[in-house]
Amino acid sequence: MKNLYSSLPFLLWVYHYVSLCLFLQGAGTVNAAELGRAPDAETCDPSECHIPKCHCPSSSPPGNIEPSKTPQVILITFDDAVHSVNIDYFRAIFNPKYKNPNGCPIGGTFFVSDAADGFGLETQYEVAKELHGRGLEIAVHSLSHTYPEQWWSGNATYKDYVKEMVGQRRKISQRAGIPEGDLVGVRVPFMSIGGDNMYKALYDNNFVYDKSMLTGSPHFKDRSLPLFPYTLDFPPQVGTVCDNGRVGSLNCPRGSYPGFWAVPVNRPFRKEAGESCNGADALGCDFAEDEDVFEFYVHNFNLHYENNRAPLCLLLHSSWFKSHPEGVDIVKQFIEYVASYKDVYIITVHELVQWMKQPTDLSQIHNFKPWRTRCTGDEKSTDFSDLFLDFLNSPYVYFIFAIFGLFLLLFGRRCLWRCRRLLISVGKTTDGKTERVKIDY
Ligand SMILES: [Zn+2]
Repeated sequence: MKNLYSSLPFLLWVYHYVSLCLFLQGAGTVNAAELGRAPDAETCDPSECHIPKCHCPSSSPPGNIEPSKTPQVILITFDDAVHSVNIDYFRAIFNPKYKNPNGCPIGGTFFVSDAADGFGLETQYEVAKELHGRGLEIAVHSLSHTYPEQWWSGNATYKDYVKEMVGQRRKISQRAGIPEGDLVGVRVPFMSIGGDNMYKALYDNNFVYDKSMLTGSPHFKDRSLPLFPYTLDFPPQVGTVCDNGRVGSLNCPRGSYPGFWAVPVNRPFRKEAGESCNGADALGCDFAEDEDVFEFYVHNFNLHYENNRAPLCLLLHSSWFKSHPEGVDIVKQFIEYVASYKDVYIITVHELVQWMKQPTDLSQIHNFKPWRTRCTGDEKSTDFSDLFLDFLNSPYVYFIFAIFGLFLLLFGRRCLWRCRRLLISVGKTTDGKTERVKIDY
C-alpha cells in the first residue's frame, strides 16, 4: 500500500500528460497524407467531398440541417493593430453581459497586424493577450500591412506570404504568450487575396482557415443566397464563389488545398442603393446617419436569417470607432437587438469552422462544446465522470496527492503497524462481548 500511495502523484502526472498529448494530437490542422493532390475539376464534387475533412461551397446548411433548425451565426471581426487606445471599445462590445442563447458570452475575432494602423498606433501585444484571455480569438493580419493593396494581390511571392503570416503568428505567440496552435486564421490586408502564392503559404504552414474571400454578386438585383464556409480541396468558381471584385478575381486560388477552410465574407447590401457595401463598419459606404448603419446591419441580418441562415460577418476596424465613437453604440445596439433571438449566436470564426466540421442543429447546440469555451466556470457539470476529470485536471490535485504521498512515505509504516496491533488485540469472549487482549511481541 505504501508504494501505491506514494506513487499516486506520479501516476496522475502521467495521466495528465498523456491526455494533453492526445488532445494536441487531435488538434492537427491539415492531413499530411493528402498533400500534393492535384486539382481535377473547376467545381467541387459533393460525392467526393465529405465533412469533416472536405466541404463544397454551398448555400445549404451542412449536415442536411434545415435552415429553420440551423443556428444563425454572426461573426464580429476586427482588423489591424490592437492597442490600449482601442481596448475600451473592445471591452464595451465584448462585455460578458452579452450572452449567446447557450448562456456563454459572445465571441469575436481579431485579425492582428504588427504594423501601425491609420492613426500610427502599433500593436501592443499585452492587449492581444487580454483579448485572448477573455476567450476571444486572435488571428493573423500580416507583419507589415504593406501599401498599396495591389502588392498583396500582384507582387507578393510565396516567400513574402510565409514571412508576413508565419512571421506574425510567431511574433504574436512570443510577445503575447498565446500558443501558436491557437493562431489558426488569416485575413490578408485589404482582403486583397494573393492567389496560390498566398493559399499555398497558408496551407503549407498549417493555418486552418482564411477569412479574406468575398462572395456573391455586388449587385442586389443579381444576388444569390449567401454561402456557408467551404474547403479548398477544389478551386472555387471565379466570379461567383470567389469574387474579390475591385482587386481582381484572377487572384482566386487555382490549386488544391485539402482541408483548408475558406470562410467567405458574404457581401452585405445597402437597402436603398441596392449595391454591396463591403465594410460593415461603413468604411467607403458613406452613410448619412448613424441610424442608417444600424438599419444596414438589421437589413443584412434579415437577408440571412429569413433565408438560409448562412453566417453573417460584421467587418470592423477599430479605427472607425476612433473617427466615429458613436459606432460602438451602434454595434452594441445591434448585439442587443439580436439577443432577443434564441437561435442567433455571435461566435469566433474558428468556432464556426469547428461547427462546420461537426454540424449541430438547434436542438443540441446548447451542449456543443466548442461554443462553450467562454462559459468555463459559470456552469459546472453535474455528471460524476466530468467532475472527477475536472478534479484530476485541477492544479491543486497534484499538490494534495504529493503531500498525501509524502505523509504515507514517512508515517505509513508506523500507522499500518499500529492498526495491525489494534486488530489483533480485539477479540471476543465466550459470552459475545468484545474485550481487548494485550499481546506482547
Ligand atoms: Zn487591415
